[in-house]
Amino acid sequence: MTEKLYDNAYLKEFDAEVLSCEEKNGKFAVVLSRTAFFPEGGGQAADLGVLGEAEVLDVQECDGVIVHTVSAPLAGCVHGVIDWETRFERMQNHTGEHLVSGIIHEKYGYNNVGFHMGADCLTFDFDGPLSLEQAAEVEALANRAVYENRAVTVSYPEHPEELEYRSKLDLSEGVRIVTVEGYDVCACCAPHVASTGEIGCIKILDVTPHKGGVRITMICGKTAYNDYCGLHADVRKLMKLLSAPRDGVVEAVEKLLGEISAAKGEISALKADLAKSGLEVTQIGAWAVGFLPEAGFDALRSIINGLSDGTALFALSGEYMVRGEGAGDLTRALNAAFSGKGGGKPNFTQGKLVGEQDAITKFFEEMNA
Ligand SMILES: [Zn+2]
Repeated sequence: MTEKLYDNAYLKEFDAEVLSCEEKNGKFAVVLSRTAFFPEGGGQAADLGVLGEAEVLDVQECDGVIVHTVSAPLAGCVHGVIDWETRFERMQNHTGEHLVSGIIHEKYGYNNVGFHMGADCLTFDFDGPLSLEQAAEVEALANRAVYENRAVTVSYPEHPEELEYRSKLDLSEGVRIVTVEGYDVCACCAPHVASTGEIGCIKILDVTPHKGGVRITMICGKTAYNDYCGLHADVRKLMKLLSAPRDGVVEAVEKLLGEISAAKGEISALKADLAKSGLEVTQIGAWAVGFLPEAGFDALRSIINGLSDGTALFALSGEYMVRGEGAGDLTRALNAAFSGKGGGKPNFTQGKLVGEQDAITKFFEEMNA
Protein backbone atom coordinates (compact mmCIF):
# COMPACT_ATOMS: atom_id res chain seq x y z
CA MET A 1 0.00 0.00 0.00
CA THR A 2 1.41 3.38 -1.00
CA GLU A 3 1.58 6.00 1.75
CA LYS A 4 -0.38 9.04 0.54
CA LEU A 5 1.83 12.03 1.25
CA TYR A 6 -0.46 14.44 -0.63
CA ASP A 7 -2.65 14.68 2.45
CA ASN A 8 -0.08 17.39 3.19
CA ALA A 9 -1.02 19.56 0.21
CA TYR A 10 2.17 21.64 0.49
CA LEU A 11 4.68 18.80 0.11
CA LYS A 12 6.50 19.48 -3.17
CA GLU A 13 9.36 16.92 -2.98
CA PHE A 14 9.79 13.48 -1.42
CA ASP A 15 11.91 10.30 -1.49
CA ALA A 16 10.38 6.87 -2.04
CA GLU A 17 11.23 3.30 -2.84
CA VAL A 18 10.17 1.81 -6.16
CA LEU A 19 7.99 -1.23 -5.36
CA SER A 20 7.35 -2.20 -8.97
CA CYS A 21 8.03 -0.96 -12.49
CA GLU A 22 6.39 -2.51 -15.56
CA GLU A 23 6.77 -1.51 -19.19
CA LYS A 24 3.50 -0.67 -20.96
CA ASN A 25 3.39 0.56 -24.58
CA GLY A 26 6.79 2.23 -24.36
CA LYS A 27 5.97 3.87 -21.01
CA PHE A 28 6.46 2.57 -17.48
CA ALA A 29 3.90 1.92 -14.74
CA VAL A 30 5.53 2.59 -11.38
CA VAL A 31 4.23 1.88 -7.87
CA LEU A 32 6.03 3.62 -4.99
CA SER A 33 6.22 3.06 -1.22
CA ARG A 34 4.98 6.64 -0.74
CA THR A 35 3.95 9.47 -3.04
CA ALA A 36 3.11 13.18 -3.05
CA PHE A 37 1.65 12.87 -6.56
CA PHE A 38 -2.12 13.28 -6.38
CA PRO A 39 -3.86 10.77 -8.68
CA GLU A 40 -6.71 12.02 -10.86
CA GLY A 41 -9.86 12.16 -8.76
CA GLY A 42 -12.71 14.32 -7.45
CA GLY A 43 -12.74 16.32 -10.70
CA GLN A 44 -9.06 17.28 -10.34
CA ALA A 45 -6.41 16.14 -12.84
CA ALA A 46 -3.38 14.10 -11.83
CA ASP A 47 -0.20 15.86 -10.69
CA LEU A 48 2.67 16.01 -13.17
CA GLY A 49 6.39 16.40 -12.41
CA VAL A 50 9.49 14.19 -12.24
CA LEU A 51 10.51 10.98 -10.52
CA GLY A 52 14.30 10.64 -10.62
CA GLU A 53 15.24 11.23 -14.28
CA ALA A 54 11.79 10.19 -15.52
CA GLU A 55 8.93 12.47 -16.41
CA VAL A 56 5.60 11.75 -14.69
CA LEU A 57 2.94 11.65 -17.43
CA ASP A 58 -0.10 10.47 -15.47
CA VAL A 59 -1.10 9.21 -12.03
CA GLN A 60 -4.15 7.01 -11.47
CA GLU A 61 -5.51 5.15 -8.47
CA CYS A 62 -6.86 1.73 -9.51
CA ASP A 63 -8.30 -0.59 -6.84
CA GLY A 64 -6.43 1.28 -4.13
CA VAL A 65 -3.07 1.12 -5.96
CA ILE A 66 -1.52 4.41 -7.07
CA VAL A 67 0.14 3.93 -10.46
CA HIS A 68 2.53 6.57 -11.87
CA THR A 69 2.95 6.43 -15.64
CA VAL A 70 6.51 7.63 -16.34
CA SER A 71 8.78 8.11 -19.35
CA ALA A 72 11.72 5.89 -18.25
CA PRO A 73 12.27 2.77 -16.12
CA LEU A 74 12.92 3.33 -12.39
CA ALA A 75 14.35 1.18 -9.59
CA GLY A 76 15.60 1.54 -6.00
CA CYS A 77 15.13 4.87 -4.26
CA VAL A 78 13.87 7.85 -6.25
CA HIS A 79 13.40 11.54 -5.55
CA GLY A 80 10.06 12.96 -6.67
CA VAL A 81 9.28 16.61 -7.45
CA ILE A 82 5.76 17.66 -8.36
CA ASP A 83 4.98 20.49 -10.80
CA TRP A 84 4.08 22.87 -7.99
CA GLU A 85 3.00 25.84 -10.16
CA THR A 86 0.25 23.78 -11.79
CA ARG A 87 -0.70 21.97 -8.58
CA PHE A 88 -1.07 25.21 -6.58
CA GLU A 89 -3.20 26.78 -9.33
CA ARG A 90 -5.47 23.72 -9.16
CA MET A 91 -5.61 23.96 -5.36
CA GLN A 92 -6.70 27.61 -5.67
CA ASN A 93 -9.43 26.76 -8.17
CA HIS A 94 -10.58 23.67 -6.29
CA THR A 95 -10.82 25.44 -2.92
CA GLY A 96 -12.64 28.32 -4.62
CA GLU A 97 -15.15 25.79 -5.89
CA HIS A 98 -15.72 24.45 -2.33
CA LEU A 99 -16.29 27.99 -1.06
CA VAL A 100 -18.75 28.97 -3.81
CA SER A 101 -20.58 25.61 -3.61
CA GLY A 102 -20.87 26.02 0.18
CA ILE A 103 -22.32 29.52 -0.18
CA ILE A 104 -24.84 28.38 -2.85
CA HIS A 105 -25.82 25.37 -0.71
CA GLU A 106 -26.31 27.58 2.36
CA LYS A 107 -28.18 30.34 0.49
CA TYR A 108 -30.30 28.33 -1.95
CA GLY A 109 -30.12 24.72 -0.72
CA TYR A 110 -28.80 23.44 -4.07
CA ASN A 111 -26.41 20.52 -4.36
CA ASN A 112 -23.27 20.43 -6.46
CA VAL A 113 -24.04 17.64 -8.96
CA GLY A 114 -21.04 17.90 -11.30
CA PHE A 115 -17.48 19.23 -11.27
CA HIS A 116 -14.79 19.44 -13.93
CA MET A 117 -11.48 21.28 -13.78
CA GLY A 118 -10.06 22.17 -17.19
CA ALA A 119 -6.77 23.88 -18.03
CA ASP A 120 -8.39 27.33 -18.44
CA CYS A 121 -11.37 27.25 -16.10
CA LEU A 122 -13.51 25.02 -13.95
CA THR A 123 -17.17 24.19 -14.40
CA PHE A 124 -19.56 22.93 -11.74
CA ASP A 125 -23.25 22.12 -11.83
CA PHE A 126 -26.14 22.70 -9.43
CA ASP A 127 -29.60 21.16 -9.24
CA GLY A 128 -31.46 24.48 -9.14
CA PRO A 129 -31.77 27.74 -11.10
CA LEU A 130 -29.51 30.72 -10.45
CA SER A 131 -29.74 34.10 -12.19
CA LEU A 132 -26.68 36.11 -13.21
CA GLU A 133 -27.56 38.62 -10.48
CA GLN A 134 -27.72 35.88 -7.85
CA ALA A 135 -24.40 34.48 -9.10
CA ALA A 136 -22.84 37.96 -8.82
CA GLU A 137 -24.04 38.14 -5.21
CA VAL A 138 -22.53 34.69 -4.48
CA GLU A 139 -19.28 35.81 -6.12
CA ALA A 140 -19.11 38.93 -3.92
CA LEU A 141 -19.69 36.82 -0.78
CA ALA A 142 -17.00 34.34 -1.87
CA ASN A 143 -14.47 37.13 -2.43
CA ARG A 144 -15.34 38.56 0.98
CA ALA A 145 -14.54 35.13 2.47
CA VAL A 146 -11.15 35.39 0.72
CA TYR A 147 -10.44 38.74 2.42
CA GLU A 148 -11.47 37.18 5.76
CA ASN A 149 -8.67 34.62 5.23
CA ARG A 150 -10.61 31.73 6.81
CA ALA A 151 -8.86 28.47 7.66
CA VAL A 152 -9.31 25.45 5.38
CA THR A 153 -8.75 22.26 7.36
CA VAL A 154 -8.81 18.51 6.72
CA SER A 155 -10.16 15.99 9.23
CA TYR A 156 -11.14 12.33 9.45
CA PRO A 157 -14.07 12.28 11.90
CA GLU A 158 -14.70 9.03 13.79
CA HIS A 159 -18.46 9.23 13.20
CA PRO A 160 -18.96 11.09 9.91
CA GLU A 161 -22.55 9.85 9.74
CA GLU A 162 -23.35 12.22 12.61
CA LEU A 163 -21.90 15.17 10.71
CA GLU A 164 -23.66 17.55 8.31
CA TYR A 165 -21.56 17.87 5.16
CA ARG A 166 -21.89 18.12 1.37
CA SER A 167 -21.12 15.20 -0.98
CA LYS A 168 -22.32 12.79 1.71
CA LEU A 169 -20.70 9.37 1.28
CA ASP A 170 -22.10 5.98 2.31
CA LEU A 171 -19.10 5.36 4.52
CA SER A 172 -18.96 5.32 8.28
CA GLU A 173 -15.17 5.65 8.50
CA GLY A 174 -12.20 7.04 6.62
CA VAL A 175 -14.22 9.95 5.25
CA ARG A 176 -11.95 12.93 4.54
CA ILE A 177 -13.73 16.13 5.47
CA VAL A 178 -12.57 19.51 4.12
CA THR A 179 -13.88 22.45 6.17
CA VAL A 180 -13.79 26.07 5.05
CA GLU A 181 -14.28 27.81 8.40
CA GLY A 182 -17.73 29.38 8.56
CA TYR A 183 -18.61 28.58 4.92
CA ASP A 184 -18.46 24.92 3.97
CA VAL A 185 -18.06 21.33 5.12
CA CYS A 186 -17.55 18.80 2.32
CA ALA A 187 -16.15 15.31 1.76
CA CYS A 188 -13.25 15.48 -0.72
CA CYS A 189 -10.03 13.59 -1.46
CA ALA A 190 -8.10 16.32 -3.31
CA PRO A 191 -5.45 18.80 -2.09
CA HIS A 192 -6.71 22.27 -1.10
CA VAL A 193 -5.06 25.50 0.06
CA ALA A 194 -4.80 26.05 3.84
CA SER A 195 -6.62 29.39 4.03
CA THR A 196 -9.12 31.22 1.83
CA GLY A 197 -6.70 34.11 1.33
CA GLU A 198 -4.55 31.83 -0.82
CA ILE A 199 -7.43 31.29 -3.27
CA GLY A 200 -6.99 34.85 -4.53
CA CYS A 201 -9.59 36.45 -6.77
CA ILE A 202 -12.75 34.43 -7.49
CA LYS A 203 -14.49 35.30 -10.78
CA ILE A 204 -17.65 33.64 -12.14
CA LEU A 205 -17.45 33.88 -15.95
CA ASP A 206 -20.79 32.36 -16.92
CA VAL A 207 -23.99 30.79 -15.64
CA THR A 208 -25.88 28.66 -18.17
CA PRO A 209 -28.95 26.39 -17.90
CA HIS A 210 -27.93 22.75 -17.45
CA LYS A 211 -30.18 19.70 -16.91
CA GLY A 212 -32.86 21.67 -15.08
CA GLY A 213 -30.25 23.50 -12.98
CA VAL A 214 -27.23 25.59 -13.89
CA ARG A 215 -23.61 25.15 -14.93
CA ILE A 216 -21.20 27.74 -13.51
CA THR A 217 -17.91 28.53 -15.25
CA MET A 218 -15.38 30.04 -12.86
CA ILE A 219 -11.71 30.95 -12.42
CA CYS A 220 -9.71 31.59 -9.26
CA GLY A 221 -6.27 32.69 -8.14
CA LYS A 222 -3.49 32.66 -10.71
CA THR A 223 -5.91 31.58 -13.45
CA ALA A 224 -8.04 34.65 -12.72
CA TYR A 225 -4.96 36.90 -12.55
CA ASN A 226 -3.69 35.63 -15.94
CA ASP A 227 -7.17 36.12 -17.38
CA TYR A 228 -7.24 39.70 -16.08
CA CYS A 229 -3.79 40.39 -17.60
CA GLY A 230 -5.05 39.11 -20.97
CA LEU A 231 -8.21 41.21 -20.83
CA HIS A 232 -6.27 44.29 -19.74
CA ALA A 233 -3.80 43.91 -22.61
CA ASP A 234 -6.73 43.57 -25.05
CA VAL A 235 -8.44 46.66 -23.68
CA ARG A 236 -5.19 48.64 -23.96
CA LYS A 237 -4.90 47.59 -27.64
CA LEU A 238 -8.50 48.65 -28.24
CA MET A 239 -7.88 51.99 -26.49
CA LYS A 240 -4.97 52.63 -28.87
CA LEU A 241 -6.88 51.48 -31.99
CA LEU A 242 -9.93 53.56 -31.11
CA SER A 243 -8.05 56.48 -29.51
CA ALA A 244 -10.47 56.13 -26.64
CA PRO A 245 -10.04 56.31 -22.86
CA ARG A 246 -10.48 53.07 -20.93
CA ASP A 247 -14.04 53.81 -19.87
CA GLY A 248 -14.96 54.98 -23.37
CA VAL A 249 -14.03 51.83 -25.36
CA VAL A 250 -17.58 50.45 -25.61
CA GLU A 251 -19.01 53.81 -26.71
CA ALA A 252 -16.23 54.17 -29.29
CA VAL A 253 -17.05 50.72 -30.75
CA GLU A 254 -20.78 51.55 -30.80
CA LYS A 255 -20.00 54.81 -32.62
CA LEU A 256 -17.82 52.95 -35.12
CA LEU A 257 -20.53 50.34 -35.78
CA GLY A 258 -23.03 53.16 -36.39
CA GLU A 259 -20.65 54.77 -38.89
CA ILE A 260 -20.08 51.45 -40.69
CA SER A 261 -23.81 50.83 -40.95
CA ALA A 262 -24.39 54.37 -42.36
CA ALA A 263 -21.51 53.90 -44.84
CA LYS A 264 -22.95 50.56 -46.00
CA GLY A 265 -26.31 52.26 -46.65
CA GLU A 266 -24.58 54.99 -48.68
CA ILE A 267 -22.60 52.43 -50.70
CA SER A 268 -25.70 50.44 -51.60
CA ALA A 269 -27.57 53.64 -52.61
CA LEU A 270 -24.60 54.71 -54.75
CA LYS A 271 -24.42 51.28 -56.39
CA ALA A 272 -28.15 51.44 -57.18
CA ASP A 273 -27.77 54.92 -58.69
CA LEU A 274 -24.85 53.72 -60.74
CA ALA A 275 -26.82 50.73 -62.06
CA LYS A 276 -29.86 52.93 -62.71
CA SER A 277 -27.76 55.27 -64.84
CA GLY A 278 -27.49 52.54 -67.48
CA LEU A 279 -31.18 51.57 -67.28
CA GLU A 280 -33.21 51.39 -70.52
CA VAL A 281 -36.95 50.79 -70.09
CA THR A 282 -39.37 50.00 -72.94
CA GLN A 283 -43.09 49.48 -72.52
CA ILE A 284 -44.01 46.26 -74.32
CA GLY A 285 -47.68 45.53 -73.85
CA ALA A 286 -48.50 45.22 -70.16
CA TRP A 287 -44.87 45.20 -69.04
CA ALA A 288 -42.26 47.90 -68.69
CA VAL A 289 -39.13 45.94 -69.61
CA GLY A 290 -35.80 47.31 -68.41
CA PHE A 291 -32.23 46.23 -69.13
CA LEU A 292 -29.23 47.04 -66.97
CA PRO A 293 -25.54 46.41 -67.27
CA GLU A 294 -23.98 44.31 -64.47
CA ALA A 295 -26.30 44.36 -61.43
CA GLY A 296 -26.85 42.02 -58.50
CA PHE A 297 -30.15 41.27 -56.76
CA ASP A 298 -29.57 44.04 -54.18
CA ALA A 299 -29.23 46.69 -56.90
CA LEU A 300 -32.19 45.24 -58.86
CA ARG A 301 -34.37 45.29 -55.73
CA SER A 302 -33.37 48.83 -54.87
CA ILE A 303 -34.25 49.99 -58.42
CA ILE A 304 -37.48 48.03 -58.81
CA ASN A 305 -38.68 49.33 -55.43
CA GLY A 306 -38.45 52.83 -56.91
CA LEU A 307 -40.47 51.86 -60.03
CA SER A 308 -44.17 51.07 -60.45
CA ASP A 309 -45.95 47.70 -60.65
CA GLY A 310 -45.76 45.96 -64.03
CA THR A 311 -41.99 46.14 -64.34
CA ALA A 312 -39.55 43.42 -65.38
CA LEU A 313 -35.86 44.21 -64.91
CA PHE A 314 -33.03 42.23 -66.48
CA ALA A 315 -29.33 42.52 -65.75
CA LEU A 316 -26.97 41.53 -68.53
CA SER A 317 -25.31 39.22 -66.01
CA GLY A 318 -28.53 37.12 -65.99
CA GLU A 319 -30.32 38.23 -62.82
CA TYR A 320 -33.91 39.37 -63.22
CA MET A 321 -36.73 40.67 -61.06
CA VAL A 322 -40.44 41.09 -61.81
CA ARG A 323 -42.87 43.27 -59.92
CA GLY A 324 -46.67 43.41 -60.36
CA GLU A 325 -49.71 41.28 -61.02
CA GLY A 326 -48.88 38.21 -63.09
CA ALA A 327 -45.23 38.17 -62.00
CA GLY A 328 -45.45 34.47 -61.12
CA ASP A 329 -46.89 33.46 -64.53
CA LEU A 330 -44.36 35.63 -66.38
CA THR A 331 -41.49 34.08 -64.36
CA ARG A 332 -42.57 30.54 -65.24
CA ALA A 333 -42.72 31.47 -68.94
CA LEU A 334 -39.30 33.23 -68.78
CA ASN A 335 -37.67 30.30 -66.99
CA ALA A 336 -39.04 27.90 -69.61
CA ALA A 337 -37.87 30.04 -72.51
CA PHE A 338 -34.41 30.97 -71.17
CA SER A 339 -33.27 27.99 -69.04
CA GLY A 340 -34.03 30.11 -65.98
CA LYS A 341 -34.39 29.40 -62.30
CA GLY A 342 -36.29 31.40 -59.74
CA GLY A 343 -39.65 32.34 -58.33
CA GLY A 344 -41.19 34.10 -55.39
CA LYS A 345 -44.61 35.53 -54.63
CA PRO A 346 -47.42 35.81 -57.28
CA ASN A 347 -46.69 39.55 -57.58
CA PHE A 348 -42.93 39.64 -56.92
CA THR A 349 -40.31 37.25 -58.23
CA GLN A 350 -36.61 37.02 -58.87
CA GLY A 351 -34.36 34.60 -60.68
CA LYS A 352 -31.54 34.04 -63.10
CA LEU A 353 -31.70 33.15 -66.77
CA VAL A 354 -29.56 32.91 -69.88
CA GLY A 355 -30.64 35.28 -72.64
CA GLU A 356 -29.56 38.31 -74.71
CA GLN A 357 -31.42 41.62 -74.58
CA ASP A 358 -32.75 41.15 -78.15
CA ALA A 359 -34.11 37.67 -77.42
CA ILE A 360 -35.82 38.81 -74.22
CA THR A 361 -37.36 41.83 -75.99
CA LYS A 362 -38.60 39.50 -78.74
CA PHE A 363 -40.12 37.22 -76.07
CA PHE A 364 -42.20 40.12 -74.70
CA GLU A 365 -43.20 41.25 -78.21
CA GLU A 366 -44.36 37.76 -79.16
CA MET A 367 -46.21 37.41 -75.86
CA ASN A 368 -48.01 40.61 -76.68
CA ALA A 369 -48.75 39.71 -80.31
ZN1 LIG B 1 -12.14 19.35 -2.88
